[in-house]
Amino acid sequence: MTTSTVEKETKKFIKTIAIAGNPNSGKTTLFNAFTKLKQKVGNYPGVTVEKKMGELVLAKDRVVNVIDLPGTYSLAVRSMDEQIAHDVLLGKEKSTQKPDVVVCVVDAGNLERNLYLVSQIQDMQIPIVVALNMMDEAKRQGKRIDVRKLSSLLGAPVVPMVAKRQEGMDEMKQVVANGVEASYQRQWKMSPDMEEEIENVVKLLVEQSGMSRPEAFGDAVRLLSQANLPREEDVKSGRYSSDFVKVLRNIQKRLTGKGVRCRSAAIEARYGWIKWVVHQTVVDKNIKKNVITQKIDAVLTHKFLGLGIFVALMGFMFYLIFFLAAYPMGWIEAGFEGLASLIAANMPPGDLQGLMTNGIIAGVGGVLVFLPQILILYFFISLLQDTGYMSRAAFMMDRLMSKVGLHGKSFIPLLSSFACAIPGVMASRTIENPKDRLVTILVAPLMSCSARLPVYTIMIAALIPEATAWEKARVMLGMYLLGILGACLMAWLFKKTLLKSQRPVFLLELPPYRRPSFRAVIMHMWERSRLFLRRAGTIILTLSIVLWVLMTYPKSDSLEPGEALRGSYAGQLGQFIEPAIKPLGYDWRIGIGLIGSFAAREVFVSTMNIVFNLSEEAETDTLREAFAKAHWPDGRPLFTPLVCISLMIFFVFALQCVSTLVIVARETGGWGWPFFQLSYMTVLAYVAAFIVYQGGRIFGFT
Ligand code: GDP
Ligand code: MG
Repeated sequence: MTTSTVEKETKKFIKTIAIAGNPNSGKTTLFNAFTKLKQKVGNYPGVTVEKKMGELVLAKDRVVNVIDLPGTYSLAVRSMDEQIAHDVLLGKEKSTQKPDVVVCVVDAGNLERNLYLVSQIQDMQIPIVVALNMMDEAKRQGKRIDVRKLSSLLGAPVVPMVAKRQEGMDEMKQVVANGVEASYQRQWKMSPDMEEEIENVVKLLVEQSGMSRPEAFGDAVRLLSQANLPREEDVKSGRYSSDFVKVLRNIQKRLTGKGVRCRSAAIEARYGWIKWVVHQTVVDKNIKKNVITQKIDAVLTHKFLGLGIFVALMGFMFYLIFFLAAYPMGWIEAGFEGLASLIAANMPPGDLQGLMTNGIIAGVGGVLVFLPQILILYFFISLLQDTGYMSRAAFMMDRLMSKVGLHGKSFIPLLSSFACAIPGVMASRTIENPKDRLVTILVAPLMSCSARLPVYTIMIAALIPEATAWEKARVMLGMYLLGILGACLMAWLFKKTLLKSQRPVFLLELPPYRRPSFRAVIMHMWERSRLFLRRAGTIILTLSIVLWVLMTYPKSDSLEPGEALRGSYAGQLGQFIEPAIKPLGYDWRIGIGLIGSFAAREVFVSTMNIVFNLSEEAETDTLREAFAKAHWPDGRPLFTPLVCISLMIFFVFALQCVSTLVIVARETGGWGWPFFQLSYMTVLAYVAAFIVYQGGRIFGFT
C-alpha cells in the first residue's frame, strides 16, 4: 500500500465534520476560521434553529463539509437546540450528512462543565476531536492543563487552541486531515443495578425500534432519568409503544425499591468521572481561593443557616429602606409642599391652581417621594447580584423550588421580579421547558416589585405610625415573604393541574465571588431610577391628571370638599363598587384608589394623595394625618389596623400593572394567558384580603 492510497481512503472517510460545544465556547469562531467565506446560513427545516454550513478546503481536491451545531450544554433533548444537535450527530437530521468526526469545542477555563457534552458525544461512539479552546483564558485564570494526559484519559485527540487568534488551527486541520477513529470505551460507571437495567432497556430499544446500540444507550439513560417517561407525544407518534412504557415504569420501581435514585444516577456518575479527569489533568493555582469559596458557600447555601442569612439580609435591606430613606424623603416632601404653597400663593384660585396643586403635585410628587427607597432597593439588588450572592440564593432556592415542581432556573426570573415583573418575565426565556416557563411567568408578578414599595410604606405608616424602623422593616419583610409563599403555592398548584410536566434535573453553576464594581452598581441604580422617574413623568402624571379631573367634575354647589368629591365621576364610580369592597373593609375613597391602581400600583398612592387633598380631611398636612382622621359616615375610623393589613395583602396578590400584562401577552403569544393571570390574581387578592379582614373581626380585631 502506498501512502497515496492510504490518503485516498482517509479522504473517503472524512466527508463531513460537525462542530459541537457549549454556548460561547468559540464554535462560531472556529467555524469561521475553518470555512473562511464558504458559508451558507439558513434554518433547519420546520424550526427556527439556525443551520450553518460551510466548506473546509484542506487541499485542492480535499474539501470537507462543516456543520456548526447549535450550542448546547448537553444532549438531553429538552430544548429544540439539543434535539437538533442530537439528531444531526446521529445522522437522523435529513437535511445534513451524518458527520464522520465531531470537533467538540471545549472552554479550557470551564473544563468540568464542558466535558459533560464531550462525554455524551463519546457515548454515541462518533469519532471526536477535542478543540481545547480559550487556552489564553485558562492561563489567565492560573490554570495549567496537561493536554497529553487529558487526551489519553479521554481516548481522543486534544488540540489546544486560541481560536480567536487562529492559534492551533494548523494542528487542528492536520488532525482532521489524518482522520480520527472512535476507540472509545465508556469509563464512567453507575451502580451495578442501574447498569444492568440500562442494558435491559438498550436491548429492548435495539430489538424493538431498530436503534443502533450507541443511540439506544443515550436513549436508555435519558428515559430512565425521567419521571413521566417517555413524553406523551413520543408514544402517540409511535416512537415508543405503551408496553415499553410499562416496562420502563416497572424498571424504575424496581430501582427505586433498591434505593437507586434513577433521576440523578447517570448525571452523578458522569460528573464523578469528569471530576476525576479534571483532577488528574488541571493544576489550578487559585485552588486556595476555591477552598475559601467553598467554605463560604457551605455556610451561605446551608439548608437552614443559608435560608436564615437570606431572610436576615432582606430584613436588613428593608430596615435601611425605612431608616436611611426617611431623611431624603423628608426633604423631597418638603420641597413639593413648598412648591405647592408657592403656586397657591402666586396663582389665582381656580381649576388650574387646583390641577397644579391637588392633581399634579399631589399625584406625581406623592410617588416621587419614594425615589430614595427605590434607590436603596436597587443598590442592594445590584450589590447582591454582582458579588455572586444571588446565584447562591438561587442555588438554595432550587431545593425549595423543587418541592413545588420547578427548578432553580425559575428562581432567577422570580428574583428579578423583586425589582419589576417585566424583566422577570423576560428572564424566563432561559427556561427550556415551555410549561415550566409559563408557570414561572404566571407567578412572577406575585413577587413584590418595587412599585409595591410605596404602597406598603404608606400602609405601614398608617398601621404603626410610632414604630421604629426595625419594626416597620419586619412588617415589610412579612409582605415580601408572603408574596414568595404565594408564588410557590400557585406554582405548585399550576404544576399539579394545568401545566403538568416533570422537573428536569438542573445543575446550577456557582460563579466565583467578585468584588462588586461600584460603577456597575451605580449604573444599575441610575438605569432603574431613570425608569422610575420616567414612569412618574408619563404614566403617573397622565393618570394623576385624569383622576383629578374625574374627582373634580362634575362640580357641585356644595362647599363641603368631601361632598364635591362624592358627587364627582370618580366618587360615583367608587360608590358604585363600594358594596363589593366593603367586605374587605374599604370605603368608596379607597375604591377610587383601587380602580386607579389597576393601571399601575403606585397610582394608588397618588390617588390617595389627591383624594385626601379633596376630602374633608384636606386641612391636614400629610397623608398619614389624613389617614388617621379618615372615617366612615358613622364616625368609625377608616384605616384601622385590620384595614391596613387587608389592603397590603390585596396589593401583595393583585396584578395591578398594565405593562406586565402587555409583556406577558407578547411572551406567551396571545391575550389568553395574561387574562387568566389577571383573573386568578385578582380573585386570590380578594379572597385573601376578605379572609384576613373578616377573620380578624371574628377574633375581635379592629
Ligand atoms: P459560540 O457561541 O460557541 O459560537 O462562540 P463564539 O465563536 O461566538 O465565541 C464567543 C466569544 O469568545 C467571542 O467573543 C469570541 O471572540 C471569543 N473567543 C473565541 N475563541 C476565543 C479564544 O480562544 N480565547 C478568547 N479569549 N476568546 C475567544
Ligand atoms: Mg455561535
